[in-house]
Amino acid sequence: MHVQRVVLNSRPGKNGAPVPENFRVEETTLAPDLKDGEALVRTLYLSVDPYMRCRLNEDTGADYLTPWQLSECVDGGGVGLVESSRCSTCTEGDVVTSFNWPWQTHAVMKGSGLQKVDPQLVDGHLSYFLGAVGITGLAALLGVREKGHVIKGANQTMVVSGAAGACGSIAGQIGRLDGCVRVVGICGTDEKCRALVEDLGFSAAINYGQEDVPTKLKECCPDGVDVYFDNVGGVTSDTVIAQMNKGGHVILCGQISQYNKDVPYPPPLSEETQETLQRKSITRERFMVLNYMNKADAALCELSQCVKSGQVKVLETVVNGIEHMGDAFCSMMKGGNIGKQIIKILQ
Ligand code: NDP
Repeated sequence: MHVQRVVLNSRPGKNGAPVPENFRVEETTLAPDLKDGEALVRTLYLSVDPYMRCRLNEDTGADYLTPWQLSECVDGGGVGLVESSRCSTCTEGDVVTSFNWPWQTHAVMKGSGLQKVDPQLVDGHLSYFLGAVGITGLAALLGVREKGHVIKGANQTMVVSGAAGACGSIAGQIGRLDGCVRVVGICGTDEKCRALVEDLGFSAAINYGQEDVPTKLKECCPDGVDVYFDNVGGVTSDTVIAQMNKGGHVILCGQISQYNKDVPYPPPLSEETQETLQRKSITRERFMVLNYMNKADAALCELSQCVKSGQVKVLETVVNGIEHMGDAFCSMMKGGNIGKQIIKILQ
């Protein structure tokens, strides 16, 4: 069988923005016969995610992530259909997902690396398994629950950075459902700001590229900030933390503004921000969704129900064709996406 795949063509270097030319599309063939324990899968949707930036380096700096190798097929989150199987855990017609799905139109995968999912959980909208009812939805829900200390009736204000992205757009909605009286998003375009307020029910949104964030934040959060869901780090986070109340909580989800720099994770804070955290007894613990997978099944059920009932709205940016994987990844890293960036694989 002839298939198309995406391999790593070059590395951007630890300091530098990735470019589509870091990836290359190739044609290859799959061996016709399956071995015991293997399944032939047809790729339906692939995900591009910020954590992949460190997999472009020779050394990822994280022991749980391996670097992509030059001229080898790239992998990440994927969802697809089992076309034939010689493993006990899945059969033809099953919908399956994996965190290590090869960027390939069809693939032979070990059944042990595939997770069978129920399409009813997403009303047939299978790409949601990579976003709102997948890992980014989990990061949003569990991040808020584990580190946010949101209490109904406590009159709390939540701020979300990277608010129009996959995690941020869900995190803000969970914050509102869990009881925050005010949820303010910070993001990169007016179109995103409009979507946050008009489509997702955020109280207000700030365009950090156009507006004076400290001033606008004061206007939008007259009672200060109690909970900060941080996806970006850097100057934006310094600004938000400076306006946080005593006893507030930072959910340290990600620091994307620093991912194209050769700095450790989490990147060091300025002295001023560190001093603010200490003086105001603000918690800022690192959050990693992979450390909470024992809570994933229940959380995915909850996300599924919220999405089906319309309590949580889902935004996606979908690009068609495996040949656009590199473009889609680089675009997402620069803010080209509203909601989850998805690539639909055409056969
Ligand atoms: P998004 O869908 O949010 O896409 C990335 C977004 O980051 C872009 O759309 C862009 O939006 C924003 N961005 C890019 N560069 C900058 C910058 N310099 N300053 C501010 N914003 C920037 O991705 P995800 O939702 O998948 O991930 C969001 C964050 O959550 C990342 O930091 C990621 O690493 C983290 N994450 C953490 C997990 C965990 O377990 N802790 C799990 C999953 C994700 P804009 O237009 O607003 O600039």
